[in-house]
Amino acid sequence: MLELKSVKKIYTTKAGNTAALDGLSILFPSKGLVFITGKSGSGKTTLLNVIGGLDGIDEGDIIINGKKFSDFKPDEYNSYRNTYIGFIFQEYNLLSEYTVEKNIRIATELQGSNISTDKVNELLEMVDLAGLNNRLPSQLSGGQKQRVAIARALVKKPQIIMADEPTGALDSVTGIQVMDTLKNLSQDRLVIVVSHDLELAEKYADRIVRLVDGKVVEDVTLKNSVIEGNIFENENDFIVKSGSKLTSEETKGLVNAIENKKNIVLSSDIKIRQKEKTVIKLEKNESDGVNLVSSKMKYKSAAELGVKSLKVKPLRLAFTIFLSVVAFAVFGLFDTVASYNNAKVVSNLISGGDYKAITLSSEYIGDVKTTNINFSNEEIDNIKKQTGLNFRPLYDFNDKEYFGLGKSSTISEIVATNLSIGKDYYSKEFSGFIEFGEDEITEDGVIDKNGFNYKLVAGKYPRIKRDKKGVADKDSLKQIAISTYMAESICYWVNGLDSIDTIYESYQDLIDSEAVFTINKKQYTIVGIIDCGGIPEKYNILQTKISASSDTKTLAADFKTFINAGAYLYAFVDKGYVDEIRTSNNRITNYYTTEAEFTVDPRYSLSSSDSTTFYDSNEISKSEIIMFPNSETTEIYPALKKDEVLISIENFAIIYSTELAEISHKDKGTDSKTCVEITKIIADPDTSADERETLFTDLALIFKKYEKQLAKVINVFKQTRETNVPSQHPMKVVGFYLNVNSDIPNLNNLKPLAMNKETMSSLGVYTNQGYYSKIIAPLTRETFGCNLTSGADYIAKNMVFESGYRLQWHKNTILNAIDENGEMIKDFTGLMLIIALVLAVFSVFMLFNYISTSIVSKRQSIGVLRALGSNGRDIFSMFITESIIISLINAIIASIVSGIGCIFVNYYIRNIMQIAVDFAIYGIRQVVFITLASLFTGIVSSLLPIIKICKEKPVELISKP
Ligand code: ADP
Ligand code: MG
Repeated sequence: MLELKSVKKIYTTKAGNTAALDGLSILFPSKGLVFITGKSGSGKTTLLNVIGGLDGIDEGDIIINGKKFSDFKPDEYNSYRNTYIGFIFQEYNLLSEYTVEKNIRIATELQGSNISTDKVNELLEMVDLAGLNNRLPSQLSGGQKQRVAIARALVKKPQIIMADEPTGALDSVTGIQVMDTLKNLSQDRLVIVVSHDLELAEKYADRIVRLVDGKVVEDVTLKNSVIEGNIFENENDFIVKSGSKLTSEETKGLVNAIENKKNIVLSSDIKIRQKEKTVIKLEKNESDGVNLVSSKMKYKSAAELGVKSLKVKPLRLAFTIFLSVVAFAVFGLFDTVASYNNAKVVSNLISGGDYKAITLSSEYIGDVKTTNINFSNEEIDNIKKQTGLNFRPLYDFNDKEYFGLGKSSTISEIVATNLSIGKDYYSKEFSGFIEFGEDEITEDGVIDKNGFNYKLVAGKYPRIKRDKKGVADKDSLKQIAISTYMAESICYWVNGLDSIDTIYESYQDLIDSEAVFTINKKQYTIVGIIDCGGIPEKYNILQTKISASSDTKTLAADFKTFINAGAYLYAFVDKGYVDEIRTSNNRITNYYTTEAEFTVDPRYSLSSSDSTTFYDSNEISKSEIIMFPNSETTEIYPALKKDEVLISIENFAIIYSTELAEISHKDKGTDSKTCVEITKIIADPDTSADERETLFTDLALIFKKYEKQLAKVINVFKQTRETNVPSQHPMKVVGFYLNVNSDIPNLNNLKPLAMNKETMSSLGVYTNQGYYSKIIAPLTRETFGCNLTSGADYIAKNMVFESGYRLQWHKNTILNAIDENGEMIKDFTGLMLIIALVLAVFSVFMLFNYISTSIVSKRQSIGVLRALGSNGRDIFSMFITESIIISLINAIIASIVSGIGCIFVNYYIRNIMQIAVDFAIYGIRQVVFITLASLFTGIVSSLLPIIKICKEKPVELISKP
């Protein structure tokens, strides 16, 4: 039972207000075929729309089975359509994306039920469309479409079917078919047909309501009644009852009718349609409650529509996706570069590499300068504990404390003088010494049971022989064992030299051979060959490559790191060996500080390379010092007082060049050599000790006369990180020293000032003699298991302090290169972020535009769905699916593109910048980041148009394309 009570619907346009329905009251029965007729513009369509809940009303009320529209919540209009109404539109309004069958099924799906294919076929047969299940609407004729629309309306089993000019677009034959179907349906439900075709109305209607200007002007009920008598005549027809005997009057009428070309109908009963004013009572009891079913559209169906609409504007879609892909790929790349983490890269390199061992040094990073500092025994213990790795000292030739300044070594003197361009693979020099005690070597020659696992493959391990007093045998101090790698290098170099007849074919050939190893001309003998762990095969290619060949540069750098990380370059010696040579070398200690930087008197252009280290004057042998004459004391070598310094002989030559020239002019020594000449001879390392002593005495005698001229004060400037202006420390020059550590040929390095301890402590310098500049630990997963990763993490973490103490690994050179490019990387990532943001904004607009276009192209379909009873939520899922799909496509392609971008970045870093490290680490993090960013922008940009369309009235969606 449907009742309209004084319904008013007013359209407001610029031209003014139109009352499309003007206080309309109609009571509809629960079954029957009701025609709404009237001229165009009389309000028919509006009436259907308001009855169907597609549009709201301004006044009055509509009551369905006792429930008032005015009590409906917004979503209940959808549910009401879903439950009660089947629409048949003049324009069919099928969903063009769906097949015939799906168009029918969607209606039941919205109601949350499912029908069998048999039922669908039955329906199709009923509307004479059997077998067309899988046709698309575009493949049907108008009449077929309208019948699909009817089937769609029917399948819902609605209580009310509403048809707006259902035959308007059809030819008369199909029109009759459609009307017959509707007539049939009206037997057990209410069918409301809007038509301006009165003839059709009179033929089919049970009731005709005529509207004029939104008001009911006529409301009649039509009844079939049987006429008594033989004939019935109206405008068009002349009906004769069969078997009747016509009167002559009637026969005349028949003849007239024939003459007037009326239809002559012969019928057993004469049935005619009679109009009466409609009288209908409200059936109170019919208010059996209203059971509204809200839309149950499956997400899959909504998604299907969303997916199908992706095909609508493929070019625009492709461009939208392209732009967002670029934006998000740049985002991803930005994230890998911006999230570059030194510690992580280092940790990965250590724990994931082929390294057999790890070698660490340490440094102190100050504001003013960075200084290498040594490990103490306590520090080694601490690092051992923290990393779980078994560290021990390495004695590097760079370690001034043991070996003095500027040490150099070559594998042999001959090679040293004949070094030519060689292959990247082979080394020409040793790095230093590594000590293993007798107790660390098993009987079968395995060195160190604690993890190094090095094996003696030829000869024996060097041992220091000592006499009863513990004095070391000189020859035993010349013994070293070398790595198989070093042995191969020696063979490569020596065998390649024409000047040597010897050819080494096996490790054994090298034992006790002439292939000597020299440090600053001191010869060593190889007594053993040690396997320090295999070298990965990937480096073998370097055996055939000339140094610095461009295609293997990075591999060569990487190989260097690998070799440096192990003990390959170290000469193996007995425990206690390094202490022996340190004492026998009579090493002078370097005093320095990491807190400040020193410069020695800028008036003289002195080399500043070692101006930051100092010597204790008491450690220099007295025979190597010439003091200037001093009237206060008669001693030849008086101990230095506070703020008195000795300078090196070459600094002496520079600082005193004027004085020396003057003195030379007046006084000459024995052999009539001038002071300048004498100084030069003394400084010459080839000068014998005896000759030097004589010349010293000569100089001392000459200087004695020029006491005043030689008295000189030089300034030492100390710059700390706190002070901007360096503090000035005047020092009195009281003499000079000869090249101490005389086995060092490079005199240019001998620049430290020598002073007493008191002066040094006033400058704040100290020494850490006796500690180790490098430490090494074996790096095997078997031995250390999971500790390796945590150990690597610890090392990596302690390598990246911005200032203060930090560990240094060989790879630091690589990482420093990255550090140096830090600013560039920062600028680069900044630029990338800006580009990505700009592109992202663009892609938001593109996506916004795309979704808006897609919505516009779908308006009609959305309207139909709404008319069928789907709600805003279904429409929302439909379009949000579309934009999520686009976003996911974006994310997938962007992830791939960005991953490829990382490969390029890494390639660039490795091969163009020659830094052997995987700089950009691309992983789950970036994929997640890209996906989230893409989904976020996708949803944000489509939300607005989607919400807008969801809020539109169904009637607007259908009527306004
Ligand atoms: P019919 O279907 O009988 O031709 P309608 O119901 O379409 O008539 O229209 C009734 C009246 O309301 C007409 O005067 C028409 O111009 C007006 N009208 C219908 N829809 C709108 C609308 N969306 N906006 C403004 N006026 C409208
Ligand atoms: Mg109309």
